Amino acid sequence: MDAKPYLIFRGAHIVDPINRIDAAMDVIVEGDCIHSLVYPGSENTWPQPCEVIDCTGLTAVPGLVDMHVHLREPGQEHKETIETGTLAAVSGGFTAVCCMPNTSPANDSPEILRQILSTAKNQGRCKVYPACAVTRGLSGQTLVDFETLAQEGAVAFTDDGMPVKNPDAMRQALKRASALGRPILSHCEEMPLVGGGVMNLGPAAEKLGRKGIPNTAESVMVERDIELCRETGAAVHICHVSTRESVLALEKAKDEGLPVTAETAPHYFMLTDDAVAEKGANAKMNPPLRSENDRQAIRRALAEGTIDAIATDHAPHSAKEKSAPFENAPNGIIGLETALPLSLSLVHDGVISLADMVMKMSVNPSRILGLAPSGLCKGATADITFIDLNKVYEVNPDRFASKSRNTPFDGMKLTGAAAMTVVDGKIQYKCSA
Ligand SMILES: [Zn+2]
Repeated sequence: MDAKPYLIFRGAHIVDPINRIDAAMDVIVEGDCIHSLVYPGSENTWPQPCEVIDCTGLTAVPGLVDMHVHLREPGQEHKETIETGTLAAVSGGFTAVCCMPNTSPANDSPEILRQILSTAKNQGRCKVYPACAVTRGLSGQTLVDFETLAQEGAVAFTDDGMPVKNPDAMRQALKRASALGRPILSHCEEMPLVGGGVMNLGPAAEKLGRKGIPNTAESVMVERDIELCRETGAAVHICHVSTRESVLALEKAKDEGLPVTAETAPHYFMLTDDAVAEKGANAKMNPPLRSENDRQAIRRALAEGTIDAIATDHAPHSAKEKSAPFENAPNGIIGLETALPLSLSLVHDGVISLADMVMKMSVNPSRILGLAPSGLCKGATADITFIDLNKVYEVNPDRFASKSRNTPFDGMKLTGAAAMTVVDGKIQYKCSA
């Protein structure tokens, strides 16, 4: 039998801060677009023939967008592929991801960019928006061809994984990206201040006898980039904010009205460096988990809007790689399949509202990447995340769609999860349990 031309998602409660909707409505989808939103009880006006999908008890929000993901393809397919990474994304409720360029080879040329876009089109389960490198081979030396890469589909530029050490290279990059309407996503890390540290500087590192990384290793470069933003007027986005000092710098910059935006990741508002003793390398990432003082500053910054977005920094590594001695284990944890419930804990704790969470996980990241989101309204692309706010379960990495298992949240009891993910009008994920 042919697919019916209309899909009716019936019975969900819609929370859409763009269109100011907070009400029970049925969503009618035609092809890849939203045909209309109607109030419950309007069955007699439904277009025919239609297929009805029961969404009773679920909450529907504009599709979640993760603006910081490492898909590892090309070059590190043993950690993740575009196919498995986007499957993990839709399983976690994301309808789009922005993928970082530190692949192998790096995404710094039109050839690699086209290869990623073509694989994403053929094998991707959600939308994939590539960010290209700022410098060739992420070497911090020669700037890439911003103009060609933007034309070919780069939504942003970043050397993520590495800082752009040379301030003049950053200054030139900001000017060129800005002229193209693209943001620079800045991984802020002042290497001499890291000085071989492997976790946050503080009592936890001392107890474990490990070399610590001070907060200034991040905040000094955040301040530098804010200065460059002030001088050039170019938009700069600060990646994975982890420290109180960075938050204070961002607060000041935003008060001034500078075009600075920022993201943090769930681990920075959920965990502190105390987790390292128990979770080992699965609690090792860059920047590192910080102190309780920093964690509280991040939560406050999310509540007050100083931090615009929640991104995962999904960084898959194999179990073998992560089982190396802590000092040598690679940085990063996966996050696509835990970010939504962890962010919902902020809602359950009264830190932010559900509408705020949708702003930080969908609307703001889309806007920062220049994607002009229109939310759930007639004519909009049907990218919709359906959430079961009340589902209670324990995190079990063996059930992840991601190729990797490196998470410090295994065994954690969480409330709320993606129930169904619709991308371009197609159901790409439906929770079976
Ligand atoms: Zn980074």
